[in-house]
Amino acid sequence: MERIDDFVRRYWPQLMRGEKIEVPAAWIEHPASRPDLFGVPPGAWPVGQTCDYVWRLREGGRIHAQCFGRNGSPMLRVHLDRFDPDRSFGDLLLHAIHETPVGPILGAAAAIGAVALIIGGVAAAIDSIES
Ligand SMILES: [Zn+2]
Repeated sequence: MERIDDFVRRYWPQLMRGEKIEVPAAWIEHPASRPDLFGVPPGAWPVGQTCDYVWRLREGGRIHAQCFGRNGSPMLRVHLDRFDPDRSFGDLLLHAIHETPVGPILGAAAAIGAVALIIGGVAAAIDSIES
């Protein structure tokens, strides 16, 4: 069984590229047994996982480990979240847009919101001219 911090170091280049590394849970140390590194996040986007653990990195971002069952065998999937949603509101937004399944919708909503603001501003300007 490999230590999970060694595992993260070994796969760091792939993690940096945004890859999700999935291995049988028995191959590596479980994040639950490394409370010095991993904690349970306050919330996580449900994508069928049965557990969530995050290792918050000093430089920002976090290592995110999730448990899945594949045909009855427990698997551990690890990826890097470049934006740690618990760090700041800005990180939360960037995480939601770039690193969750709702991202494209949120991105579009944000764009529509910006357009609505501009239209609202123009309408208000026209109103002030007319009155
Ligand atoms: Zn994540």
